[in-house]
Amino acid sequence: MDWKGRRRSDNVEDRRHMSASRAGGAPALGLILRFLPFLLKTKAGRILLLVGAVGYAGMHFMGVDVLNLSGPGQVSSSSAPLSEKDKEMGEFVSVVLANTEDIWTPLFQQMGRTYEKPVLVLFRNSVNSACGYAQAAMGPFYCPGDNKLYIDLSFYEDMKNKLGAPGDFAQAYVIAHEVGHHVQNLLGVLQRTRQAQAGLSQAEANRLSVKQELQADCFAGLWGHYADKDFRLLEDGDIEEALNAAAAIGDDKLQQQSQGTVRPESFTHGTSRQRMEWFKRGLQTGSVAACDTFR
Ligand SMILES: [Zn+2]
Repeated sequence: MDWKGRRRSDNVEDRRHMSASRAGGAPALGLILRFLPFLLKTKAGRILLLVGAVGYAGMHFMGVDVLNLSGPGQVSSSSAPLSEKDKEMGEFVSVVLANTEDIWTPLFQQMGRTYEKPVLVLFRNSVNSACGYAQAAMGPFYCPGDNKLYIDLSFYEDMKNKLGAPGDFAQAYVIAHEVGHHVQNLLGVLQRTRQAQAGLSQAEANRLSVKQELQADCFAGLWGHYADKDFRLLEDGDIEEALNAAAAIGDDKLQQQSQGTVRPESFTHGTSRQRMEWFKRGLQTGSVAACDTFR
């Protein structure tokens, strides 16, 4: 990617010097669990739980913990100073985020809406969000409760070394996918999916989750379309990097790697082939309507 010297976003929150404790989201969860039997009894209670869940659950980049692929991960001190490489990676994500802002703002205008820019939080090891306490091993995620994307940049090392998905455009795809969830949040897709999932069997709910994730992939591809056409950010080989990453994080591929077997009814993000196809569709069309995975 030809990213250096481009506009950086003001919406990056660098928490790489801080360490998080588990305390953050726990009291709220404890309270919910305590009143769970009562809440489940009434229809109003069930709706309350549903609304709560929308704010509480984060949307992840992939379905299996990356570090699980090769046993427990190493623990590093969160007070370690930022290296030159850390600083450069911080600049990179800031440029990518800025570019998603420049592309989604006019697209929302065309839909007669306003694009409210999300915040991207950089963290190390663990972080507290409105969706609760999260560890780096869970991978990057978007929290609809606070409109923030969370990423520990060590995930990029895992992509390269453990998933065989190197490259800066593959890294940008991760951010664009989480931004895609933010777009879904603004368009009401996340809320509609949650409501539709209530009362469904786990397998049926998972099928809706797959549609939602594939749409985020399509939106990531859509970003790539304009990043190339209007901003000339892409270089030779970039598209192959993103497609290779999409293939590396398919549920079938990850389950095969981590469990040695594949259970399609448990898929939440889609197969390698589906993830590649929907990313490609967004990339080729640049059309929000073409990303309707629910149709
Ligand atoms: Zn996702």
